[in-house]
Order: sequence, then structure tokens, then C-alpha cells
Amino acid sequence: MSDEVALAQNARPGEDTIFGKILRKEIPCKCSNLVQLTCFQCVAFDDVNPQHYLVIPRKPIPQLSKAADEYELLLGHLLIVARKIAATRKLDQGFRIVINDGPVGAQSVYHVHIHVLSGRQMRWPPG
Ligand code: AMP
Repeated sequence: MSDEVALAQNARPGEDTIFGKILRKEIPCKCSNLVQLTCFQCVAFDDVNPQHYLVIPRKPIPQLSKAADEYELLLGHLLIVARKIAATRKLDQGFRIVINDGPVGAQSVYHVHIHVLSGRQMRWPPG
């Protein structure tokens, strides 16, 4: 089992998360020119892994499967910000958007987030 999968298997919703700490500025995140995409609804920043970016809502929605219908506009906004991350980081050759959900989806942080992945040729199906 990979480290990421093991982490996800042990993660549980309902706890404070690393993204909550980032939102409260208790720990730093790297965002350089993504800071312009941060707004009252969301924050965009670099994942700790290279060529990998994240957009998270300020509202602590634990995971997509638990997101109420009332968050339709917010979730749509996150996708638009993901597109802007790709433009800002000049991912001209393409990118991949991922939302992991739950243990089977390999979610390790229970604060809903969109991954923007690029910098290498993606394969399909993903692992
Ligand atoms: P997931 O496994 O879908 O819940 O994704 C969680 C993501 O958060 C992973 O891609 C991690 O690399 C990333 N991550 C964890 N801690 C940090 C951090 N302090 N700053 C930026 N990204 C992080």
C-alpha cells in the first residue's frame, strides 16, 4: 500500500485539518502568484508536491459527497478558480482536475479541495 493510500485509510472526517490551519494562517502555504485568486470564498495555493495546486473553500465542507445542494455556486466557483490556476501557472498543454472522496477515493484531508495536476503526461485510468 502506498503512503498516500495508507494516509487516506487512516484519515477521518470531523477533525480539524491541515487546510483549516492554513485558512487560519496557523501554518503557512506557498501561493506566490496564486494569491490573486484568493477571495472571500476560497484560497488557492501550491500542494506540497511539485506541479500540483489546490483550491479550497473557506467553508469547512468535509468532502464532496457531504456537500449540500446549497453549495452548488460555491463548488462551481472552485472549478473556475481551478481553471484560473491552470492559466496563471501556464499549464498550456493541459492539466487534470481531481477531487478525492472518502477512503476508497484516497481522500486524506477532510476539507473538500480540488487538485490541479500537470507537469507530466497523465495516464488513464488513474491508479
Ligand atoms: P487528498 O489526499 O485528496 O485529501 O489531498 C490532500 C492533499 O493535501 C495532498 O495532495 C497533499 O500533498 C496536500 N497537502 C497536505 N499537507 C499540505 C500542506 N501543508 N500544504 C500544501 N498541501 C498539503
